[in-house]
Amino acid sequence: MKTDELREKYLSFFETKGHTRVASDVLVPTWDPSVLFTPAGMNQFKDHFLGKVKLDFTRATTCQKCMRTGDIDNVGRTPRHHTFFEMLGNFSFGDYFKDEAIHWAWEFLTDKKWLGLPPETLSVTVYKDDQQAADIWHEKIGVPTSRISYEEEDENFWPASAPSQGPDGVCGPCSEIYYTAPGREALEIWNLVFTQFNRVGDPPDNLRPLPSKNIDTGMGLERTAAALQDVETNFHIDILMPIVQAAAEVCGVKYEYHSENGRRLRRITDHVRACTFAVHENVYPGANKEKYVVKRLLRRAVLDGHQIGLRDPFLCKIVPTVVEMMAGTYPELKETTERVAGVIEKEEANFFATIDGGLNRIEQSFDEMRKENRTTVDGHVAADLYQTFGVPPELFESLAAEHNLAFDWDGYEQAMLEHGEASGKLTHTVMGSKGPIDSLKQVHHKTDFLGYDVTEASATVL
Ligand code: ATP
Ligand code: MG
Ligand code: MG
Ligand code: MG
Repeated sequence: MKTDELREKYLSFFETKGHTRVASDVLVPTWDPSVLFTPAGMNQFKDHFLGKVKLDFTRATTCQKCMRTGDIDNVGRTPRHHTFFEMLGNFSFGDYFKDEAIHWAWEFLTDKKWLGLPPETLSVTVYKDDQQAADIWHEKIGVPTSRISYEEEDENFWPASAPSQGPDGVCGPCSEIYYTAPGREALEIWNLVFTQFNRVGDPPDNLRPLPSKNIDTGMGLERTAAALQDVETNFHIDILMPIVQAAAEVCGVKYEYHSENGRRLRRITDHVRACTFAVHENVYPGANKEKYVVKRLLRRAVLDGHQIGLRDPFLCKIVPTVVEMMAGTYPELKETTERVAGVIEKEEANFFATIDGGLNRIEQSFDEMRKENRTTVDGHVAADLYQTFGVPPELFESLAAEHNLAFDWDGYEQAMLEHGEASGKLTHTVMGSKGPIDSLKQVHHKTDFLGYDVTEASATVL
């Protein structure tokens, strides 16, 4: 099944269940001060869940453009993570709850009229105290108990983190659905969140049942397409493989999945796609917040190209293929292709002009560290490199990790602050995030990658 067909099937399935089809919100929700990029389908419905807006409907379904900066370091290394991806979702605002959400998810996945996945390829997780969800899966749907696992708070309670630690506000347990193809690792494809509590203050009595219960689900479009198309990674699905191939062509190399260049080409694919959408929404590479993320993604991709051997702008040449693959759903991309490619080319040219100097300086600092038996990159050196050569500190950190060297983020922040004060203006803020979900700080948290994805972790960072 083609990805475009899957997207349409999902939305029409939930229309048959009385849902209103709502358009994707923008990728960069300037109306929402708590996030830099839309991290999930539910984001545009926050006020609906809180009962703050008058509802025209109580059931909605969407395909939402999302971006998760926290996943940057996973891209290319795990088979399933992108920065930019599309999330399918169905939502209930005080309407249906667990029973229907679980039944419909199962029907959509397994019914031959819809996706027709064999039931034995699917397994589920539930929150450890959510026996109700486990009972629905087992007794009503018939999932054997061997394929139902009970997970801790940090995995299966939303917003992420334990009920005792999470922010005040609506929250609830969730249930995730995994697909396992023969010989492959289990792949999380769909998360059903049962928004049933209002969290107020500290435990033990901080979870108050909401008067009206909600449903918020998120299914990864690319992951589910990968399952249906029986490919080993999201990057090999019909709408992404042509971009990977276009990247291979402009880089003048052959694409191979299990190779250093393969990882680089996947990262280039992801980052060009993400930046095409961001620049389309007028977020240009810059020094702060969203703009800095775009800059960082582009520079990371340029570095990949540089390591393949390129010395001139090449990302801009991949933009037309991105547009071709995505324009069926987002035809507006066609109107800005040239502008987007132009913005990307300019940023590439800027970085190519300084990258050799930056890399030399980095190598030199590694030599110095070896001689002095130091194992942590000096934050002041990194700040200097950012200001002189435009090398994002996260790139420096990645290169350092290749040499098993740590990175002194506190020192870096301090040095930037000193510079900002000295020049009278802070030119760059790594701390420039607006909220917990999509914060730039999370970019530095690698627990996700180090845990589940350790099979690919033997791959070097760049
Ligand atoms: P994972 O554990 O694999 O990182 P997650 O638990 O963080 O996924 P959720 O927050 O539950 O993901 O998001 C709902 C769904 O969106 C996931 O089940 C998955 O199908 C999809 N998804 C999440 N993050 C990504 C990503 N970085 N790239 C592609 N799809 C994603
Ligand atoms: Mg994740
Ligand atoms: Mg997960
Ligand atoms: Mg999940």
